[in-house]
Amino acid sequence: AALYNVDGWGGPYFAVNTAGNISVRPHGSDTLSHQEIDLLKIVKKASDPKSLGGLGLQLPLIVRFPDVLKNRLDSLQSAFDYAIQSGGYESHYQGVYPVKCNQDRFVVEDIVKFGSSFRFGLEAGSKPELLLAMSCLCKGNPDALLICNGFKDAEYISLALVANKLALNTVIVLEQEEEVDLIVELSKKLCIKPVIGLRAKLRTKHSGHFGGTSGEKGKFGLTTAQILRVVKKLAHAGMLDCLQLLHFHIGSQIPSTALLADGVGEAAQIYCELVRLGANMRVIDIGGGLGIDYDGSKSCDSDISVEYGLEEYAAAVVHAVQCVCDRRSVKHPVICSESGRAIVSHHSVLIFEAVGTSSTNGGGAPPALSAHYLAEELSEDYGYLSELAFRGDYETCLVYTEEMKERCVEQFKQGTVCMEQLAAVEGLCELVRKAVGAAESVRRYHVNLSIFTSVPDAWGIDQVFPIIPIHRLEEKPSVRGILSDLTCDSDGKIDKFINGESSLALHEMEGGSYYLGMFLGGAYEEALGGVHNLFGGPSVIRVSQSDGPHSFAVTRAVPGPSCGDVLRVMQHQPELMFETLKHRAQEYVSHDNAAAVLAAGLARTFDRMPYLLPLSSFVADDVAAA
Ligand code: PLP
Repeated sequence: AALYNVDGWGGPYFAVNTAGNISVRPHGSDTLSHQEIDLLKIVKKASDPKSLGGLGLQLPLIVRFPDVLKNRLDSLQSAFDYAIQSGGYESHYQGVYPVKCNQDRFVVEDIVKFGSSFRFGLEAGSKPELLLAMSCLCKGNPDALLICNGFKDAEYISLALVANKLALNTVIVLEQEEEVDLIVELSKKLCIKPVIGLRAKLRTKHSGHFGGTSGEKGKFGLTTAQILRVVKKLAHAGMLDCLQLLHFHIGSQIPSTALLADGVGEAAQIYCELVRLGANMRVIDIGGGLGIDYDGSKSCDSDISVEYGLEEYAAAVVHAVQCVCDRRSVKHPVICSESGRAIVSHHSVLIFEAVGTSSTNGGGAPPALSAHYLAEELSEDYGYLSELAFRGDYETCLVYTEEMKERCVEQFKQGTVCMEQLAAVEGLCELVRKAVGAAESVRRYHVNLSIFTSVPDAWGIDQVFPIIPIHRLEEKPSVRGILSDLTCDSDGKIDKFINGESSLALHEMEGGSYYLGMFLGGAYEEALGGVHNLFGGPSVIRVSQSDGPHSFAVTRAVPGPSCGDVLRVMQHQPELMFETLKHRAQEYVSHDNAAAVLAAGLARTFDRMPYLLPLSSFVADDVAAA
């Protein structure tokens, strides 16, 4: 646990158990420890062809823990409730979840269900997101907010107005000045009185990678002059009372509470000014940015860690709003936040398997050096090298062999050196590198997933996630390795790990399965991943805690997309492709039986659409096993 700093980034949900496996505490560590779930057991069950109604799910696998989601929501709400109560703040906190962080139907439905008692709502940034948020919130608390952000056209605004008409607590947030004209026009046309918010561009900027949307030059929001013009336009249309919410977003992964308080303080001033100008202000929406400590270092110096927890975050926000409002004698607003990363990151674990290893410099023993293969010129080099080695001048030896290899490659390209000679010189190079201790000792572990699909931020923005073996943690790892995925793309690798390391401590593969887990990737990774190299997404299961010896029940399982599914995404027609290949099989494979077997195999490869098994069958299956 110490080697991988599991306690640092994993608490209170992940720990190492006495068997040396990762255990999950879906309700946080303060709950009964005997209710821990062994992650390896989940993986074994999911991949067992006899279990889960015979699904035999393939890896990679996303394991979702709805209980963790519930705990995150409860903890965030409690942190704000405590800060509000202890500070004497005279309004309440009412958060929303930005669905873009993970639009999975069950994640969104769970959040609405778990947050219903404290009016937790949703934020949408596009028309499809708005549609899904509208339908989910129909089953939620009627007071839960539905915040409509993002660039808006007439269709988006009309849809948001309809949401209002459907008694969903909808706020249309202006991101651009022009949107106000559309809102005024369409609301009059549809006879629906909107609730309007506006997004302010703050001067407060955070300098980390995720701060690109903040500051005066940020992509989104209205400048001071634009805000004043919007107020004027609304007043002119007799709709200034519709303006009720101020929104801003400093950026994701806000590193410190000092920066947070600075931004919130600036926004609170704008809020008070809007009150002064006659708007009917009720809510300050502080956007997202509540950070995650991916490496467990609790430091504000890197993009992957933050120095605060939920309680410090809430206290800083409440205090900053309260100070400004009290000074300006403005009624305390409802505080809304749009935390995404902090709500969904912990709830899922991506499990994948190492399927083989190789040395990063090609692997295998260097070919035996045979003077026979060395050309005359190279033989001289060989003599000189022997002399250097005899004198113990290994560094010069190394430089000389590298140069010699380069020369040899040039000669090979010109056709004056044959393949055996090239191999002999490469072998010599490797022998020298080994002798001087410069040999690459980092191994490449091939893992069965696509980095582009499952960990897109590792490729796109060099983000680092905690990745560790989920078993054999009682054994000292003896190898250092990087992870290479199975796509034919050289960027499909992970060679940056927490603690700034360029390789990961790993165990020798000993014939059995070697499973690794990527943690804290529940936000953004699934939403961003594409179908690079036509690798489908992972299979997904939902796991809940249950009584009984297994202590968990798989309540839903969805196989990853079939080849047919991913081909369809790229406009191919798998049914036609299958027919073509089937005919060709009949044409080219003489034996009828063999052709049929081949066709059946092809059909399996294309497969049907992924299907959902009824919830009851899994619960029954688990209970029976218990
Ligand atoms: N709200 C807005 C407007 C955003 O742009 C984002 C993300 O960038 C979020 C909320 C969610 O931020 P986070 O996941 O950091 O909480």
